[in-house]
Amino acid sequence: MAVDSVLSSPLGPPTCEKDAKALQFIEEMTRNADAVQERVLDEILTRNSQTEYLKRFKLDGASDREALKSKIPVVTYEDLQPEIQRIANGDRSPILSAHPISEFLTSSGTSAGERKLMPTIKEELDRRQLLYSLLMPVMNLYVPGLDKGKGLYFLFIKSETKTPGGLLARPVLTSYYKSEHFKSRPHDPYNVYTSPNEAILCADSFQSMYTQMLCGLYEREQVLRLGAVFASGLVRAIRFLQLHWSQLAHDIRTGTLNPQITDPSVCERMGKIMRPNPDLADFIADECCKENWEGIITRIWPKTKYLDVIVTGAMAQYIPTLDYYSGGLPKACTMYAASECYFGLNLNPMCKPSEVSYTIMPNMGYFEFLPHDPTKNSSPTNLVDLVDVEVGKEYELVITTYAGLYRYRVGDILRVTGFHNSAPQFHFVRRKNVLLSIDSDKTDEAELQRAVENASKLLREFNTSVVEYTSYADTKTIPGHYVIYWELLMKDLNNSPSDEVLDKCCLAMEESLNTVYRQGRVACNSIGPLEIRVVKNGTFEELMDYAISRGASINQYKVPRCVNFAPILELLDSRVMSRHFSPSLPQWTPERRR
Ligand code: AMP
Repeated sequence: MAVDSVLSSPLGPPTCEKDAKALQFIEEMTRNADAVQERVLDEILTRNSQTEYLKRFKLDGASDREALKSKIPVVTYEDLQPEIQRIANGDRSPILSAHPISEFLTSSGTSAGERKLMPTIKEELDRRQLLYSLLMPVMNLYVPGLDKGKGLYFLFIKSETKTPGGLLARPVLTSYYKSEHFKSRPHDPYNVYTSPNEAILCADSFQSMYTQMLCGLYEREQVLRLGAVFASGLVRAIRFLQLHWSQLAHDIRTGTLNPQITDPSVCERMGKIMRPNPDLADFIADECCKENWEGIITRIWPKTKYLDVIVTGAMAQYIPTLDYYSGGLPKACTMYAASECYFGLNLNPMCKPSEVSYTIMPNMGYFEFLPHDPTKNSSPTNLVDLVDVEVGKEYELVITTYAGLYRYRVGDILRVTGFHNSAPQFHFVRRKNVLLSIDSDKTDEAELQRAVENASKLLREFNTSVVEYTSYADTKTIPGHYVIYWELLMKDLNNSPSDEVLDKCCLAMEESLNTVYRQGRVACNSIGPLEIRVVKNGTFEELMDYAISRGASINQYKVPRCVNFAPILELLDSRVMSRHFSPSLPQWTPERRR
């Protein structure tokens, strides 16, 4: 029931008073976007004026845009690495932030193969929670009755480490789920999860997934929405059900827990949930043993109104799979965030994935936009402010945060689609330099090149070299995996590399890839074994011919290092002579290599 018109919002009639306040907040922030940005910048520069970093640029007490733009350089992570390393090593002096750095958030973006370390401060948790608190009020405008049931969300923590100076280093969601903000969240009828905290907070990804799935099955009639942070996570959950439904049904039939679940707090909590339910077990077994899994989500969870997963950016590749399993349920992309800073939300979350635009909330940090022209190396001088971006143009996001990043290039390319009040809305175009991505891994061209070089060393004793290569993120398998097409030059046909050697090349490539990739392979099981497909000699020449027939310039033609255009993939696949897979897991431990 909508509350009365006194609390009405231009976004639509709010469902309850709490929602009305949230929607009003969005209105205030977006109407006054420029003033809010000015205030945020003033707060950040004033409170941090005595930091070593800002003193370096001699702001002389100034805290306005003019000072920022004329005195503080636009930087990348690599520029800040000396400062970040000192903090990681234990220097507690105010280097970047006047407030103590409470921990490092480990980004899925990497630098020299390791996750980037993003400094954060305690109060940022409040800011993140504030953004989360706006999501359901917006969703309630579009989907009524979400207080009449629950959300089945597959949420996971990942391993954490300590820096040499003793600060925790962990992904932002792990930090959030482990915080009191999440663990002790007050009951909200619009935001009830089927997964108990104990299951979400279990560090073992199998036990966590198993028990979250079990709870979701027990409450199948209550589930109104199904989600994971990214689409890849939800696809993985369905795959998990495919692999484990028989054991899950057994547990439900008998009311006993799979002995592989050993985490004491999970066992204790599940003890209170488990009960024998043979009818439910029969139903699950009947549905899951069918060959055809089309629409399985709505068969098992019949009241699901939408899937809550990010399917923008690299995750768009999972849309067909999710549509298949869910019978085309709406896919809501609710927010846009990063370890560095949470940015904003989608004010029209039930729109089509291709139409998703995120409204950056001007209270989260200070935002600038570097005009992006893929044909030019845009110099970081003419940055545009939040309210001055132009519809239709593309920009790289540059942020200044409360935690002590100043004019920091995030690496995301965004296109302006319109405005809500004076706050612009952005289509996420892509992350710069990412060639391959299955889950949260991001592999760039240089990393792929290095991996190919390292692997091809194994071919030397066979007088064989890799003359050309390209790659493809294959998400038709679950989990998805990297496919690398190799054209080989074998100079000694009597001594060509065996299948075993080529299998080892797959593993050698994986060993060379960054830590997020290897963690996905080893700990999260979110990426499958890397595959090398050896193609016939001359295939890459055919690829060039094809590109030229479609208008590419013969002088400027470069082999694409990643392909996803169907006719090109068909051409490559029709020339495959042999396929090879990584025979084992690459090395991965939570500890950083440097
Ligand atoms: P991380 O720092 O590991 O949390 O990764 C943050 C990055 O994930 C962002 O900079 C984006 O590149 C990507 N990302 C986050 N939210 C979205 C979204 N809603 N759509 C597309 N990409 C996203």
